[in-house]
Amino acid sequence: MPPSVKTPHLESMGVDLSRPLVIVDVDEVLGLFMQGFGDFLVGRGLEFRVDRFALFQNIYQPGATEHLDLDEGRKHYEDFFRYGAGDMPLAPGGPEALRALSEIASVVILTNAPGQARLARARWLGRHGMDYPLILNTGPKGPLAAGLVAQGRGPAAFVDDLLPNLNSVAEHAPHVARFQHVADPRLQPLAPAEPDRHTRIDDWDLLRQAIAQAIS
Ligand SMILES: [Mg+2]
Repeated sequence: MPPSVKTPHLESMGVDLSRPLVIVDVDEVLGLFMQGFGDFLVGRGLEFRVDRFALFQNIYQPGATEHLDLDEGRKHYEDFFRYGAGDMPLAPGGPEALRALSEIASVVILTNAPGQARLARARWLGRHGMDYPLILNTGPKGPLAAGLVAQGRGPAAFVDDLLPNLNSVAEHAPHVARFQHVADPRLQPLAPAEPDRHTRIDDWDLLRQAIAQAIS
């Protein structure tokens, strides 16, 4: 099956392929997505309830017991990427960890986001000192991650909050060290995990050390 997104050519993006490769997600890894999306929805007179690990099922009219229609939720989600994602709060320690890792590895940002998100996302990363090559994907990340890692000559690591992406990388690029990171403390107890398969570390300082060890 062909990957859903054409694999970018890393060398043409300025990535040093002689170094280890660290592939990092944005939402709930470098940025507090749920927090940012929740604040955005409040600005629209809506409520975001973090009582399960879900997206559109967590959006409510204030006081309502039934969540918003899923299509309507999706529209707010797409609007957030276009208009609101630039205000997303940072995951504590993320930029510092990437700065340290970038001394021993090539860092690439791999985010699942709609195409209209690219500009705001790149600006957000740049504003917070994370001007690493940015790649947008849709669907499970394994095929694209495998295509990226195949271009490198050293070891590689992959960081994401979502189990489907981690499982997908395990399937398509099993030699890549996998780490699950869930930045938002409210989501940490809710996020499905398989710690025996993918190392789970929610603290960026500890995660940075574990990644450095895995790729050295
Ligand atoms: Mg994510």
